[in-house]
Amino acid sequence: MSRFDRRKAEAGEEPAPTREKRGTLAPLIIFIAIVVFIVVALVTSRSAATERPFSYTELLMDTEVNLQIFCRGSGEARRAKEALFDEMKRLERLLSYSDPKSDLARINRAAGERPVEVSPETVEVIQKALDYSSISEGAFDPTVAPLLELWGFREGDYRVPDPDELEEAGVLVDYRLVEAGTAEVYLPRPGMALDLGGIAKGYIVDRGLALLSQSGVRHALINAGGDIGILGPKADGSPWRVGIKHPCTDGELIAVIPWMKRGAVVTSGDYERFFVEDGVRYHHILDPRTGYPASSLVSVTVVAPTAMEADALSTALFVMGPQRGLALVESLSGVEAIMVTPQLELLISSGLRDLVELPGENK
Ligand code: ADP
Ligand code: MG
Repeated sequence: MSRFDRRKAEAGEEPAPTREKRGTLAPLIIFIAIVVFIVVALVTSRSAATERPFSYTELLMDTEVNLQIFCRGSGEARRAKEALFDEMKRLERLLSYSDPKSDLARINRAAGERPVEVSPETVEVIQKALDYSSISEGAFDPTVAPLLELWGFREGDYRVPDPDELEEAGVLVDYRLVEAGTAEVYLPRPGMALDLGGIAKGYIVDRGLALLSQSGVRHALINAGGDIGILGPKADGSPWRVGIKHPCTDGELIAVIPWMKRGAVVTSGDYERFFVEDGVRYHHILDPRTGYPASSLVSVTVVAPTAMEADALSTALFVMGPQRGLALVESLSGVEAIMVTPQLELLISSGLRDLVELPGENK
């Protein structure tokens, strides 16, 4: 033992291995490294090779919700989709406008009377809805419900309201009046009501993807009637191609975003819910300032990090129109948009312009 080793031994440390000892350890270390390498390579190649695509569709939130998911087997895929749809249904029951037992219905029934205690999820969506109302200077406004009622968009008993009726209901439409605390929400005027139809679907898609991610899923896409949220690329690492419906021609695409590996793509279109009276088409996205359907665009697609953001913004931009809408998109980081005017002209935000395929251009 050298003097140095002796000092170390006195201090309670092991002496350093001699040259001979190191020589005998080296093959063992190399052997272990090779074994570890082989095991890791086997595990990763096995999981990538055996993950297969599964697809499920259910009717939820008034629309068809499709899940595409990569899993190692059908049992695993079925368990994931059951947990997912259960969670989405639970959230729908909290946020539904028409279910009398929902948090939202309880808030609306107590308008002008008292604050209502609701679940944290409901508070979260309402707070976010109010944020997007303020970002869009009231173009997005969840208090638009009394106007939607007048037009019959809630019950399906469509009609064109009188201007006086719209003016009267308009007094109840102002997101700045909503009092949303940490656990309670209060609508201070009788007759006020909240409608989360422009944001809830996106929120529920995000929550669904978060649940899948927590349970170990790494490759999935949820399409809730045009609200698309993406969790990772496909199992082979390739991106999802997301097509955007042509607003007039059924079955045709107006654009394709071919590189989605995460985030969301959400489209709001005037063709989703509408009625025709005396040859005029009236649709379900209302301009809260006028009470009439917004008319300067026919479709707005937003690409954003979350489906909730994309959902609220697609509705907001639809109301704001091309100029103000594009200005808002350009001011938000990570957000891009494709707008279609009534003349079918495409307006694409700067970050997306060279990254989108336009099938019509090749014809
Ligand atoms: P979709 O539900 O067809 O995907 P949107 O996300 O654009 O379309 O949401 C439209 C829904 O948003 C309407 O059905 C209504 O519930 C609600 N809504 C309508 N106008 C507004 C508005 N100005 N601000 C907020 N929500 C709105
Ligand atoms: Mg929306």
